[in-house]
Amino acid sequence: MANFPKLFIPGPTHVSDEILEAFSTPQIGHRTPEISELISQLILDIQKVLYTKNHIYLVSHPATGLWEMAIRNCVKKRVLHCINGAFSKKWAQVSKEVGVAYDTLEYEWGKAVQASDIKQKLESGRYDAIALVHNETSTGAMSNICEIGDVIGDFPDVCLLVDAVSSMAGIKISIDDCNIDFILASTQKAWGLPAGFSMAAVSDKFINKSSTISNRGYILNIDIYEKYYAKNQTPYTPSIPHLFGLKKALELIFKEGLENRWNRHKEMSNITKAWALDMGQSLYADQDARSYTVTSIKNDMNWDINSINEKLLSKGFRMDRGYGNLKGQVFRISHMGNIFKEDLVEYLNVFKESINE
Ligand code: PLP
Repeated sequence: MANFPKLFIPGPTHVSDEILEAFSTPQIGHRTPEISELISQLILDIQKVLYTKNHIYLVSHPATGLWEMAIRNCVKKRVLHCINGAFSKKWAQVSKEVGVAYDTLEYEWGKAVQASDIKQKLESGRYDAIALVHNETSTGAMSNICEIGDVIGDFPDVCLLVDAVSSMAGIKISIDDCNIDFILASTQKAWGLPAGFSMAAVSDKFINKSSTISNRGYILNIDIYEKYYAKNQTPYTPSIPHLFGLKKALELIFKEGLENRWNRHKEMSNITKAWALDMGQSLYADQDARSYTVTSIKNDMNWDINSINEKLLSKGFRMDRGYGNLKGQVFRISHMGNIFKEDLVEYLNVFKESINE
């Protein structure tokens, strides 16, 4: 196989050989006892990783489709989209395109969404759903999801919808303790699997509300998901390689231990932040909002990012050069999933050499 650079971009992330191998398991039928057995085990294991009893849907398309599932199945009045970066902004765009009523609560990029702001907005009685991105991959800003969940606890008719695309399986999220009604992620970030597959954990409150809503379309309709959930199957033919890959990833997660995994991500984020500061740069996200899976670094030192990129590529590493308008001014280092402390330290050392060459 040709040598591809090791990925230090915030998704897709590096996939280990043992997970890749699991992807070549022979196919099984998608309406067989074998698949139901596989899926029921996956669901139990994912529920453990997410500290929840909520239903887990396994979905054979990227997470963007789940943005639409979330809003189409639960908004009767109006959803409040909290926007603090590129992905939360795109999610609001989905509401616009599919005709779901919404308002936005906007923050400067790099800042976290604040529970106190949400409380104030909910007191108006105008909303029955709040949508936000837990870990804004575009900026490296992480919001305190449990503080927000506590607020939602006082508003029983409101659903909390969370994008955890770049945090799930890398950062501890106790879904049931944090009142999260719908949380979604794709597999190419902290889960450490190839892209093209995603999952959602969905509360009874969300499911019950969904059945009272019309115009939910077909492919993302929760009723259809629920019908097949009862049989431990997926509504449509799934990506069977992803199911086997997920089985292997979960085995590795439990072997590592959940608390060890959460601590590993925190430690890698501390190492990266210290490295950036030591190199004379500063950090883009607010101090109280710095992600454990991706660090965004302000290019105060005016490094020539394109030239560093070329050098890193020639040494077998793929770096990030910044998202959208931030390109060149801010760049990100991803430390999640199958990246361990030794991989990160090697990358940071090679990065440093590449600046000085
Ligand atoms: N949400 C966040 C926070 C992301 O970082 C991304 C992709 O990078 C997405 C959503 C879109 O995910 P997908 O490409 O799996 O649809």
